[in-house]
Order: sequence, then structure tokens, then C-alpha cells
Amino acid sequence: MLSGKTALVTGSTSGIGLGIAKALARQGANIVLNGFGDAEGPRAEVAGLGAQVAYHGADMSKPAEIGDMMRFAADRFGRVDILVNNAGIQHVARVEEFPPERWDAIIAINLSSAFHATRLALPAMKAAGWGRIINVASVHGLVASAEKSAYVAAKHGIVGLTKVVALETATTGVTCNAICPGWVLTPLVQKQVDARAQAGGLSNEEAKKALLGEKEPSLQFTTPEELGELAVFFCSPAANNVRGVAWNMDGGWAAQ
Ligand code: NAD
Repeated sequence: MLSGKTALVTGSTSGIGLGIAKALARQGANIVLNGFGDAEGPRAEVAGLGAQVAYHGADMSKPAEIGDMMRFAADRFGRVDILVNNAGIQHVARVEEFPPERWDAIIAINLSSAFHATRLALPAMKAAGWGRIINVASVHGLVASAEKSAYVAAKHGIVGLTKVVALETATTGVTCNAICPGWVLTPLVQKQVDARAQAGGLSNEEAKKALLGEKEPSLQFTTPEELGELAVFFCSPAANNVRGVAWNMDGGWAAQ
């Protein structure tokens, strides 16, 4: 379905981003990976699905590096047809104890990076008459949890950005939508499981159950594969008129 198209997925060396990159690769898209840590493992996984793969290690908190990455993708594949703004970090602390530099980093990586990548991707998408911008927000773009001020602010912000971009592209072949996962068992969440296990003297399994039981009625983690399939749907012709939605895949979290 996506052969000849190029998808750039930020923060795709791990977790949800890698799951989405693989789902888009299975549909035939060329993939530009981004993120920290080992890039060769993810590159091999995605190439194994038959995709052409490139990698750029831009730090998404740095607008100049985001510009380099967008130029790199255009040089390598012609243009970016599908932009998935996924890179993100978390920090958990009450507002009065929240380190200001962590606040700045979360706003830069989880929110401002999407603005920069979007503004740079849009002209070529509009010129081509087709494009998809998919923002990986969170259920925390819809509701709040204590001790996550920067994350909740950034995720509500990216849902707002999604709606504005959707309005500004409404009469074009470019759509912009957000995905709002509940708990997904990635390194970002395992850290929170570990913190809970340590604080409560719980085993890893007990801490996972406690985390799910508190927020997610299904008592099941959403998987990167399921989120990848939602991204594929947003890229399909059936979603041509799906614009500006914040679609939760959260085991019923936000229904409460
Ligand atoms: P993860 O830690 O597995 O992956 C995060 C990715 O972002 C990694 O590839 C990492 O290298 C990259 N990254 C971090 N800082 C970066 C930077 N400055 N520049 C470039 N890349 C950077 O986490 P994940 O759970 O897969 O999270 C992906 C997205 O999904 C995030 O936006 C997160 O907020 C969102 N999300 C996660 C969950 C969850 O339960 N895991 C739930 C809702 C939303």
C-alpha cells in the first residue's frame, strides 16, 4: 500500500517508534530511522522486512539537527511523505520538585520537535498533494496524572498542534492526526515499573499489575504492533478524511 512512499519516524530505535517503523515498512514504505542508542539492530530489523532504510541521529531537542535530518531524508529518498513525530522522554516528580532542566527537555523533545519537523515537512507534502503527519501523543494528551506536569503539558500541547495542522491542511491531501496510547511496555515505562517495584517492595510482575490496575481497565498493555497498525490505517485511503483526531488506544483509560 505504501510502496514508493517514505516514512520518517522520530525516536524509532526503540519501543513504539520502532513498532510503527516496522508496520510501515511491511506496507512497502522506505524508512528513515532516528533515535539514540544502537541503530544497527533496528536498521537490520526494518531492512529485513524488505524496506530501504536510512538512519539519522538528530537530537530532537535541537532544531538545527532536526533541519539536518529533514534535508538528509529528502536527499536520500526525494521527500518525506509520512512523518511520525514519536520521540519522547518522561520524568516523574511533583511540580515543586520538578527540575527545570527536565521540564525544558520534555517540552523540547515531546512537543517542540514535532513543530519543527512538521513545519519542515509540510511544503513538500503539499506540493506532492499527499502526506501524513502522525503525532504520537498519549492518553496524557487527553487526561492528566499527578507527578507528570511537563509530560501532560507537552502531550496536551501536541494534541492541540495536531488539530491546528489538520485545519491548515484540511483542503489538501495532507492529514494530521494523533495517537494516544495508554500503558505500553517499553523502556520508558519499564523505568516506572522499576520505581514502583522498588518503592513498594514488589516483584516486577506485581509492579506491572499495580501500574495497569490503577489506570487501564483492560489490565493489558497496548503493544507497539497494535499502534503500528493504527498508523497504517491513518496512511490508508480509508483515512483520507480523518483529520485532527486524537485517537486513544488505551484499554479504556480515558473512558473512565
Ligand atoms: P522508548 O524510550 O522506548 O523510545 C523513545 C525513543 O525516543 C528512543 O528511540 C529514543 O532514543 C528516542 N529519543 C529520546 N530522546 C531523544 C532525542 N532527544 N532525540 C532523538 N531521539 C530521542 O519510549 P516509548 O515508550 O516507545 O515512547 C515513544 C513515544 O510514545 C513517546 O513520545 C512517549 O511519550 C509515547 N508514549 C509512550 C507510552 C508508553 O506507555 N510507553 C504511552 C503513551 C505515549
